[in-house]
Order: sequence, then structure tokens, then C-alpha cells
Amino acid sequence: MKPPFCAMCGNNLRNDEREFELLYFKLTLEEEASNQRMRDNRRVGHPAGAYWFCADHTEQAKTLTHLHIKEAKAIMEQPPKPPSLWERFRALFGKTK
Ligand SMILES: [Zn+2]
Repeated sequence: MKPPFCAMCGNNLRNDEREFELLYFKLTLEEEASNQRMRDNRRVGHPAGAYWFCADHTEQAKTLTHLHIKEAKAIMEQPPKPPSLWERFRALFGKTK
């Protein structure tokens, strides 16, 4: 098993002493087969689909484990949604209250 190293930001135990969590993501058939071979041979290693996340990224990552890590990371890398028209409208006129 690899030591904790956040799959999103690269934080590790040297610069972040908070808890890291190992999450298991959906595998491609090929990765599943590779994990199976590892189990069959009783080899010890880092299983495919298992990724560490730091405290900043664990919560969001947990909601995406039904996806492949590549899809999950693509979603996590997206910037936060821009405010909706209504939110901008409120921000514009909310101040005049
Ligand atoms: Zn992180």
C-alpha cells in the first residue's frame, strides 16, 4: 500500500498532519482483472482504484466513488459554479435594502 498522498492536491504526511482517507473508486475491467491477479498470486501491493485524499478533498471525493478516478478528478477539478442570474440579481439589489 502506498503511503498517504492526496490524489487531488499532493498533500502528504510531511505537509499535512490531518487525517488522510483511502477511498476505492470504480475500476475498469482491466484494473479489476489486475487486482484479481494480485489477489490470486497473494501479492501485496497498492490495489488499482484505491486513492488517498487529504482532509480538504475527502468529503467531495466520497460522493464520487461510483465513478472511475479519472471522471471523479475531472469533476473535482471543475471550478465552483458561477452564481446564477438570480443570485447575481440579488447581490446587485440586496445592498439597497
Ligand atoms: Zn487534497
